[in-house]
Formats: sequence, structure tokens, C-alpha cells
Amino acid sequence: MAMFLLTFNLLIIMALHVYAQERAQERERMVQQQLVSRGIRSKVVLDAMRKVERHRFVPPELSHEAYNDYPLPIGGGQTISQPYIVAFMTEALNLKPTDRVLEIGTGSGYQAAILAEICKEVYTIEIVESLGRQAEQTLRHLGYRNVYVRIGDGYHGWPEAAPFDAIIVTCSPTNVPKPLEEQLAENGRMIIPIGEDQVQELVLITRQGGKLKRQSRLPVLFVPMRDRKGKRY
Ligand code: SAH
Repeated sequence: MAMFLLTFNLLIIMALHVYAQERAQERERMVQQQLVSRGIRSKVVLDAMRKVERHRFVPPELSHEAYNDYPLPIGGGQTISQPYIVAFMTEALNLKPTDRVLEIGTGSGYQAAILAEICKEVYTIEIVESLGRQAEQTLRHLGYRNVYVRIGDGYHGWPEAAPFDAIIVTCSPTNVPKPLEEQLAENGRMIIPIGEDQVQELVLITRQGGKLKRQSRLPVLFVPMRDRKGKRY
């Protein structure tokens, strides 16, 4: 009996190991075919995308699609962004290990985990309570101690923790929220999808010498930024 149990346990451990290895291979393929081939160069970003287990952040029934080249539904009509968009936005922020970052739209928590691999602290706000709580649990379970999740309306930012070296917005308002501009530190960078429901542009905003500079980077499609009553910003 003892022998049987030992063999059984060993088999399970081996199966888990093979599963983890296969997932790591899928991530390496994702990095090469979706990111490097499209021009993502930052080593810290590529390493974070290699490391973070994206399949833990999607609903279990979609776990086998986690490393595919498209966004996936995460419940409540929301989505986890396509891997390339996550990498592109993260690279655009030009993050340093000492940076403190604000994210608006926690969603699954995947983007927050990528940021947490690269910089010092991540403050992330989600308006849908069930999503925010679930993301918080996933992040805690995976051992991220430098991510702070808040349930609330991200339009107003997180004034008590401001200013931020970088701000990433993963839902789309029609204009840049004033409070977010104000919470951007000197030499800070913000990446944000601005536009209407079907036409949006990723805009990179930098603050230098007290002045804000804007550059359009990429056409994209994000879910709208909404207030608590569901009205679009
Ligand atoms: N970054 C996420 C994807 C976010 S999808 C990830 O990695 O999985 C966009 C999210 O923005 C949704 O979860 C949506 O509920 C949230 N959102 C929309 N309006 C918001 C607001 N005003 N404040 C905070 N979150 C908001």
C-alpha cells in the first residue's frame, strides 16, 4: 500500500512538472512569435512575459487558449488584453526597478503581475468588485506582495499614493482624465487608449519640465471607461 501511494504521488508530481514545462514552452513561443517578431525589444518586458503564468489569470475553461494571439473574456463583459498589447504598453512606459506605477482597470490582474515583475510597487484600481477581488486573490496566491488592489472608480486615480512614475490605463475614456494627469510625477509616463467605442488610439503622455507632451502610438480597441452608474467617460 505504502509503495503504491509513493508511486502514485511521484506520478502526480511528474505530471505537474510536464504540464508546467509545456506551459513554459507555450510562453516562449508566444514571446518569439507574437512579441519579438513584432518589434518588442525590452529585455525586462520579454522576461516578465516569459515568467508570468498567464493561464492562471483566465477562466479555467479558457486556460488552453491563454497563450494565443488574441484577447480573452474574463467575465462581466470584460477582457484580458492580447499579449502583444500588454507587452507594447509595458515597454512604452520605460520602467525602472524603483518606479511606482498606477494601473486603471485591474481586470484579471495579469497586467499588474507583469508590472510587479519589473518595478517596485503597483497600485491598481478596478470598478467591478467581483473582478477586483478575484484578481487580488490570484495575485496573492502567486506571491505578489508589491501589488495593491482597490475597488473603485479609477477616473479619480489614487491621490494618497500619488505622484506616480508611470500610469497605465487599460479601459478607454474619450479624453485624458484630469486627475490622472495631475498624479503623474515629473519625468513620468502615461499610456492610455483614448477615443470612442470603435476608434481608439494608444497615447503616450510624458511630463517634462512641468509640461505634458502627447504622442499617438497605435490604434487599439479597449472596453470603455465607465463611472459607477455605467456612464461612459
Ligand atoms: N488590465 C486588465 C484588463 C482590463 S479590461 C488585465 O490585465 O486583465 C478593462 C477593465 O477596466 C475592466 O475590468 C473594467 O471593469 C475596468 N474599468 C472600466 N472602467 C473603470 C473605471 N472607471 N475604474 C476602474 N476600472 C474600470
